Amino acid sequence: MTEKDDWRLLNLDGEFLKKAYVNPTDGEEICKYAPQLRYCEFCLEPVQDNPHQWWFLPVNLSCCICEDCFHDFKELFAWKKLDGWDIEWEGKKAFAKKQKECGGSCAE
Ligand SMILES: [Zn+2]
Repeated sequence: MTEKDDWRLLNLDGEFLKKAYVNPTDGEEICKYAPQLRYCEFCLEPVQDNPHQWWFLPVNLSCCICEDCFHDFKELFAWKKLDGWDIEWEGKKAFAKKQKECGGSCAE
């Protein structure tokens, strides 16, 4: 049972995360596509380049939430879990756009 005064909530303005839609992903994907996300928003667990470390990201990629915190706070924040296919990684998008523009012929 998670308390409202859990230490992980003390320094956090979590209002923006209330009822957020979150996608599951892993540490490897975050390091690849969203390297600006480095710590769990709640407990400051560092993101590792590891496909077996699970994370949860709100759809706007504003922060990341570790697996433990996700399970501890999902009821408190009323998060809605998505299937992970909807993540719009900025890097992936830019890459796809670039390929389209050059017809796949550019080397870089
Ligand atoms: Zn955490």
